This record gives sequence, structure tokens and C-alpha cells, in this order.
Amino acid sequence: MAKYPYLPEPRFTWPDGRRCAVMVCFDVDGETTALSEDLTLASRMTTMSQCEYGPNVGVPRLLGLMKHLELPATFFIPSYIVEHHPKMTAAILSDGHEVGAHGHLHEKLADLSPGEEEAILLKSLGILESVTGQRPVGYRAPWFEINPGTADLLKREGFLYNASMMADDVPFLHDNGLVEIPGHWMLEDWEQFAFNADPAWGFIPEDCEKVYRLWWDEFVAMRDYGCCFVLTLHPWLSGRPSRVKLLERLLNDIIDTGDAWVATGSQIAEWVKGEASRRNEINFDA
Ligand SMILES: [Zn+2]
Repeated sequence: MAKYPYLPEPRFTWPDGRRCAVMVCFDVDGETTALSEDLTLASRMTTMSQCEYGPNVGVPRLLGLMKHLELPATFFIPSYIVEHHPKMTAAILSDGHEVGAHGHLHEKLADLSPGEEEAILLKSLGILESVTGQRPVGYRAPWFEINPGTADLLKREGFLYNASMMADDVPFLHDNGLVEIPGHWMLEDWEQFAFNADPAWGFIPEDCEKVYRLWWDEFVAMRDYGCCFVLTLHPWLSGRPSRVKLLERLLNDIIDTGDAWVATGSQIAEWVKGEASRRNEINFDA
């Protein structure tokens, strides 16, 4: 005999009795998508124009959707993009969204020495602070990949959270107290939508209906289990019209559940820090 539903005790407590948290992340890689691979791609006008579509067309369209839905988002932006698109960055901030660090030219941390990693982080912080007037508290590693020393470096530079690991589906604390808000490749648009002929990137772009089902099914199950649903989208991919419609439908369906907490990374991290001090029984180290 079937035994539905299986609803374990939630592993996490969210504000105001909400059943789950939702963090909408826009990784605005723009031109660094190409330039981090090969600087000579700067002369490949069509490839570059596909990347530029993100900051120039995708971000304004996605900002419009988030304003319409009255939902906050977190924008992780390489400082090269912040430098080259100051009006886009200002528009993100004036709409009340969070800007987090994401390298300078979207460098892969695994290719860097500890000294190089630190120099790039400091350079990106300097640019973000001078353009936005704010020091970011959140970090997403390019390609989601951090090094053994990254958490300590982020802590030392005053970061509240990292959103790069995949060890859990609720936030947890690093040994040094840095909050981790983990994500997963399943909830990323690159695997679904990225394609470029030459250089060859990605796969055959997926049908939005299939992607909706993939993400919605994961949201429904994460809500049952009290998780933190971290959706990561790139405006050069998810700013295309049918994909903005996909996001509109997904977020409206999430809102309609009535018990999902849609928050920025820093709001989630502040809540996690508060919970950690209020409730020692939460096993963040599990
Ligand atoms: Zn990125």
C-alpha cells in the first residue's frame, strides 16, 4: 500500500513560519563569459554581442519583471562588468537589489595561486565599492568553484556569506563563521540554455516547458523539506523573451504557495547567523 506523503520534519526554520527560502541569483557575466576564456575573443563581434545582450537587454527586462513581482534578487557581477556598465549597476541598486562579488574577469579560482586569488578579490572589491558606494557582503565564485583558502579570505575581507558550494540544500556555517548558501547545477540556466557555435559552448537550447518542470518539481520538493531554493540565472541566457516568461510563471507559482520566503543572499545569511546564535540545537555541521 502506498505511503504518501513523506514529509520529514523540516531541517531548518525560516522567518514567520515560512516553509522554505528562495534566492533568485542573476550572475551578470556579460562580456567576461568570452573574455575569461580568451581575450582575443574581443574581436569576435557576434560572440561578444551575444554576451553583451545580458547587461544591455537581459538585465533591464529582468529588472522590470522583478519590480512587477515586487521581489528582491541578488546580482553577482564581475567587477569588469560593473566598470563597463555603470548605468546597469546603478539601476540594479536603485531597484533595491543586492550586488555581490563575482571575480573581476570571471577568473577560475582553481587556476590561481592564493596570492593571485587575493589580488583579484581585492581589485574587484575596490571597483565595486567605488562604483556602487557599497562593500559587498556576498560572494559567488565564478563557475561555483572555490579553493581551500577561499572561505578564510572572504571572512577576512568582511564577507557575510559565500554562495558557491553544493554540500547541502539548506545554508550552513563554515568553521570560521562564514555563512554558506549552497546551490546546485540543476537550478542553473547554463546547462539548459547556453549555446555558442564557435567557440563551442553549451548544448542544444532546451524547451522552456521542460525547464519549468525541472525547476518547479525541485521547488515543490524543496518546499516540502524546508530547503533553500537557489536559482542561478545569466541575463544573456535568461533575459531572452520566452525565458523571462518562464521565470515569471515560476515565480508567480512560488508566490502562490503563500509560504515561500523570497529573499536576497544577505537577508538569508543574516537570518542564518541569527538562528545559529538563537538555537544551538541546529546542527549546521551535519
Ligand atoms: Zn559567472
